Amino acid sequence: MKITEILSDPGHSRFSMELLPPLKGQHIDSIYRTMDALMPYNPAFVDVTYHREEYVYREVGPGLLQKRTVRKRPGTVGICAALMNRYQIETVPHIICGGFSVEETENALIDLDFVGVRNVLALRGDAIRSEGRFKAEADGHAYAIDLLHQVVDLNKGIYLDPDLKNTTSTDFCIGVAGYPEKHFEAPNPDSDLRWLRKKVEAGAEYIITQMFFDNARYFEFVDRCRDAGITVPIIPGLKPLTTATQLSVLPQVFHVDLPEALVKSVEDAKTKQQVQAAGMDWCTAQAEELLDKGVPTLHFYTMGKVEPTAEIARRVLGTVEV
Ligand code: FAD
Repeated sequence: MKITEILSDPGHSRFSMELLPPLKGQHIDSIYRTMDALMPYNPAFVDVTYHREEYVYREVGPGLLQKRTVRKRPGTVGICAALMNRYQIETVPHIICGGFSVEETENALIDLDFVGVRNVLALRGDAIRSEGRFKAEADGHAYAIDLLHQVVDLNKGIYLDPDLKNTTSTDFCIGVAGYPEKHFEAPNPDSDLRWLRKKVEAGAEYIITQMFFDNARYFEFVDRCRDAGITVPIIPGLKPLTTATQLSVLPQVFHVDLPEALVKSVEDAKTKQQVQAAGMDWCTAQAEELLDKGVPTLHFYTMGKVEPTAEIARRVLGTVEV
């Protein structure tokens, strides 16, 4: 089922989440444990992130380093297939431009189509850690909208090879990312919104937002999108803050502001448990207000930690017979 079909069902669950594939060398059991903990809250769908390659240096002799390319969290396609099979849940694999040629992207989309995935979130991806700026592959896409065009083409049966005849069309429902606090590279919010609108005009059917900690930023963003003629569902992304270190890490990595009241409550906490409780109380209040205002669903960034998300889902939604 497509995400848009799920969201248009008035009785749909108001809870979804994003999972990270385990690190290479780890078993898929960690994903199953996360799912087992979250299934009682009847998630509407689950996103699975995609991670591009990174460079690592290995010492191969005295003073000699060898540069190697590794993909630390492979498995997105396999995890989606496994979750659909095991939990009968819709999955949304993320697909990214960074590190992929257009041919590799086409082949990944064919795999996804064959295993029955009907949804993708089309993203640009970030720069490799060792590079300052995002660089597209010579034969890859530079922006999410270019990747989106490729999926839209495939949905029309248009493959890269113009000589292919009698092709079948895929039928992907495509989501894209949006940034209530502006994408960090955008020169200003209006420019960022202009590109977002172009993604929607090109075929994106819903938007999932970057995490935010001040609901006012989300509501303002939705208003600005609606004023700009963007009518698709805008799903709010939530992340429960769990450690004091995240006070600096989250703004650094995700380019988001943390409200002073949240910062103060974390700074006042005396123990790790109190920090986590402060973060969860904050996120619970955010979730309650967002649900009251009728958001399409609450989308939780679990970032490898399931308990805080499960606890907030329990508080705001309660368990559901599944
Ligand atoms: P784009 O839409 O391409 O935008 C990038 C920047 O360029 C923006 O500043 C935009 O304003 C501008 N822009 C857009 N189009 C054009 C154009 N045609 N010409 C000029 N400027 C343009 N990263 C991963 O690597 N893996 C993941 O699984 C992943 N999941 C994510 C899920 C969500 C919900 C979100 C919000 C982010 C996720 N990211 C992920 C991070 C994302 O890849 C980065 O934020 C990335 O820097 C931008 O991706 P985008 O798709 O928004 O890019």
